[in-house]
Amino acid sequence: MHAQNATNYEKFKRCKAYETAFELKKEGYIRHVGISFHDSADVLDRILTEYPQIEVVQIQYNYVDYDDPGVQSRLCYETCVRHGKPVIIMEPVKGGTLVKLPPEADKILRDLGPMSNAAYALRFAATPENVFMVLSGMSDLAQVEDNVRSMGDFKPLDAKESAAIEEVRKIILSSSAIPCTACRYCEEGCPKSIRIPDLFADYNAKKIFHDWNSDWYYEIHTQSAGKASDCVKCGKCERICPQKLPIRDLLESVAKTFD
Ligand code: SF4
Ligand code: SF4
Repeated sequence: MHAQNATNYEKFKRCKAYETAFELKKEGYIRHVGISFHDSADVLDRILTEYPQIEVVQIQYNYVDYDDPGVQSRLCYETCVRHGKPVIIMEPVKGGTLVKLPPEADKILRDLGPMSNAAYALRFAATPENVFMVLSGMSDLAQVEDNVRSMGDFKPLDAKESAAIEEVRKIILSSSAIPCTACRYCEEGCPKSIRIPDLFADYNAKKIFHDWNSDWYYEIHTQSAGKASDCVKCGKCERICPQKLPIRDLLESVAKTFD
């Protein structure tokens, strides 16, 4: 079941897609039923609670999206663990963006040893216990060989490597275009139900990583909530924002980028 999120899931349910798939499995036409997932951990929890027969979950997971408010890699992974589901990882190298790092971040990984930046990203993704497969897009033979080297003789990240990755993550995130901490205080009072921190996270991903996936996430975050361009500039959100962000102006930039 591809691309499950709050909206697609409702559609699949209306069509009885899950019931049909489980029936086809009983009849031997399908071997395994799994989902690929893009939304918040709450939505994933709901799906896995309503359909415990789901056998495997594919999530976006990499060290930059780990605590990203929109992607929620860590929370989604933990939800899978709670439901006892094996996990397939997609976007471990964030569409290739974790290969070419800012110089300061690059140096941290170079000081660790000869392994490539992609190898560290893959190993980060493959380290958690419930991960049984990591999908990686490769576009030339050198990348195939590098990936085979990293995973053929797989070793989970050790404490020193994990600390280095954490430093790299901080450097990357400190260059965020919008320094929103995702506290979500602003969301409750918004008359247009705009998922402000999620839209800011999408914008940051687009600006820092030129990440094609951020367009897809923007669509998800606005499917059943307001778009950036729906803001009526009432200012309620700015009065409560502890970071004193000029949310109305920032949403204009978000709207220009995505709407
Ligand atoms: S200014 Fe815009 S984003 Fe902020 S609460 Fe009002 S409508 Fe929502
Ligand atoms: S209140 Fe400010 S910092 Fe908190 S989520 Fe909203 S925009 Fe981000």
